[in-house]
Amino acid sequence: MQQINFLSLIEKEEKMGYSDGAVFGGFAEFVKQFARQRKNEHLWQLAVNYEMAAPLERSQILVLMRQVAANMDWSSIEKEAVEKPLPITASQKLTTPVRYLKNIGPKRAALLQKLNIHTVGDLLFFLPRDYEDRSRVEYISSLAINQVANIQGEVIKIAEMQPHYRMHILKAWIRDESGIIVAIWFNQKFLAQKLSPGKRIFLHGKLEKKYAQLQFSVQDYELLDDGMAMAKGILPIYRLTDKLNQKAMRKIIADAWTLYHQDICDVVPAFLQEKYGFPSRERAFYHLHFPQNLPEIELARMSLVYEEFLLLQLALGRLGNKKHLPGIAHDKNGQILNRFVKSLPYALTEAQMRCVNEIYHDMESPIAMARLLQGDVGSGKTVVAAAALYKTFCSGYQGALMVPTELLANQHYEDLGKLLGSLGAKVVLYTGSGTVKEKKELLQLIADGTADIIIGTHALIQNNVQFAKLGIAITDEQHRFGVMQRVGLQQKGQEPDILVMTATPIPRTLSMTLYGDLQLSIIDELPPGRKPVKTYAVNFDYESRVWRFVEKEVQKGRQAYIVCPLLEESEKLDLQSASELAEKLTQNDLKNLKIALMHGKLKSGEKQEIAELFRAGKIDVLVATTVVEVGINVPNASVMVVKNAERFGLAQLHQLRGRIGRGKEESFCILLHEAKTDVARARMRIMTQSNDGFRIAEEDLKLRGPGEFFGTKQHGIPEMKVADLFRDGKWLEIAREDARMLLQKDRNEELMQYVDEKFPLWH
Ligand code: ADP
Ligand code: MG
Repeated sequence: MQQINFLSLIEKEEKMGYSDGAVFGGFAEFVKQFARQRKNEHLWQLAVNYEMAAPLERSQILVLMRQVAANMDWSSIEKEAVEKPLPITASQKLTTPVRYLKNIGPKRAALLQKLNIHTVGDLLFFLPRDYEDRSRVEYISSLAINQVANIQGEVIKIAEMQPHYRMHILKAWIRDESGIIVAIWFNQKFLAQKLSPGKRIFLHGKLEKKYAQLQFSVQDYELLDDGMAMAKGILPIYRLTDKLNQKAMRKIIADAWTLYHQDICDVVPAFLQEKYGFPSRERAFYHLHFPQNLPEIELARMSLVYEEFLLLQLALGRLGNKKHLPGIAHDKNGQILNRFVKSLPYALTEAQMRCVNEIYHDMESPIAMARLLQGDVGSGKTVVAAAALYKTFCSGYQGALMVPTELLANQHYEDLGKLLGSLGAKVVLYTGSGTVKEKKELLQLIADGTADIIIGTHALIQNNVQFAKLGIAITDEQHRFGVMQRVGLQQKGQEPDILVMTATPIPRTLSMTLYGDLQLSIIDELPPGRKPVKTYAVNFDYESRVWRFVEKEVQKGRQAYIVCPLLEESEKLDLQSASELAEKLTQNDLKNLKIALMHGKLKSGEKQEIAELFRAGKIDVLVATTVVEVGINVPNASVMVVKNAERFGLAQLHQLRGRIGRGKEESFCILLHEAKTDVARARMRIMTQSNDGFRIAEEDLKLRGPGEFFGTKQHGIPEMKVADLFRDGKWLEIAREDARMLLQKDRNEELMQYVDEKFPLWH
């Protein structure tokens, strides 16, 4: 651990609202361990106090910790041995298919495949999603009833019973320094042979009182002194599929590790690893799969976070993420805005007007625009984009709008086609679907400049798409795109103006790094007449009442969405699939209504058709997987039921909810959930209390505990596997500086080649 690592942890803890969650196992616990190692009593005391303090005091303790850190003699703290890095040559062995490993037959290989694990490399880089800390061992005499705990001792004697032909009971008397307890297993007959008296054993389970007797019912165990830890210490928890349990997964990884770990090569240049006190890449993965203590997990994680950011920054740097380049000076003619505003069926809100003015100002300047338009769901970003597209059209250029789904592209095409078409522009839709001939014709229109406004999906960044004269490149729902895709669109022109739109608030440091010096426009006002959506969280006991409510609203002339969580292949969840639900509702609860089902597996034409029928009011209830999440706009739909809402991220729930509350009618969002933990219930509560995307995102961040140890999918910069863009912001900045330095001075061709492979621009 080095000073910089320690400081970045403190910062992370602050960002997480002093929740003690910055590190798996608890921030305070981590600092205690670290202080003990360094024999720093002051720091230790602060950590102890931190655990017990209220948030306000906690913020002060962190200030004190910073001071302690500043006064510590870091230079004398010996650096962890940094192994000599190996050259980055893609190892042949890591590409070995998993089925060549022992213990992996075709069945297991197929299970692993579901987790996207195909090669040995995939397996070794498959990181735990969480950890379970079983490193604390209790004395038998101090066990509390019904509390899960770990004990460790010697087997004194065993006894077996078979009260019933299908039930086998195994009892073992276990002794430690403090006392003796009877441990009990059910239906584990084979274990009897292994448990001879004198063996030492670790047990994880709970003390129970049955028939006036105390017994320790064992959930997991491990015979000590034989091999790799499988039940004891700090255990990794992996994301799994059915039929594969944690123990099996740990074993598979351990076996692969033994044979292949020496093939894990370093990526980060050695001098940088050394600078931050990071372990080698091989050691980092070792610590994450087979951890001994909390500090090493955290340090290993940080090193991978840094690596990930460094690669991203190098990739961006190589693309030439330049700023303040000379660009296009669009026409400065006040009539453009007048004409546009006049063509609208409503008046722009003040906030929209301000954003349009900011954008127009940038567009008129001879320096290329790089602007982020941020506005909560439903705030009316599309029309602002339309104003920008119109301006580019009036100036004799083409405008492109890229959106993440075909459905949304279609919808924008319809709306903007009408609006901008009436103003004289030729609007086309390019999504990569359609016949070869149709596509060819479209490409021709785009290339020769006949098409003025081009709306499409990421098909727009494919090589065969050539623009005649691209004036502005807009990406909608930016958070759904990769950085590389955004840059890809930008590169279709000669320094076109750039506008990216998102509903997800992006921290300043992040937007700076990802977009260069991005200017920010915020729509902080909803169109008039919107009533906040009334949100209720109810459990499944209320299910039939919920359907009755939906029926009533539909009879009043409204429409409804029913959203089901995506079917994860990886887990056999006790969820009904969307189709089963649609079936059930059609047959029973909502049999008088017109119900349609929309899910990701439908062909885009089918989706399109359903979306149009729903928009036209020919369908009352749309049962859908989250495909409705992005952008659909049907103002008459005023009811949304989200099934198993606890399975969604808050940001996602907020996006979903944004589909309703778009019309004059009062809207209702019902979160049908089976939240079991306090945190899960708290998340539901936030949704019922707030309609403010910023506040929700903030609360979400605080509640996301160390349970989500790796990954940050819901904020959706897709390339990030390890890093959390919010919490690890500090490393992002550091990596940015380092990348700049590497690109300027130290041209490391091997590294650059690796970067290019890792971040291919075209998919
Ligand atoms: P988002 O910001 O989520 O992309 P949209 O652009 O889809 O929001 O707009 C949501 C709805 O609000 C649309 O139906 C749009 O026509 C409507 N809208 C946008 N601006 C205004 C306005 N100034 N007055 C009234 N309705 C508006
Ligand atoms: Mg939108």
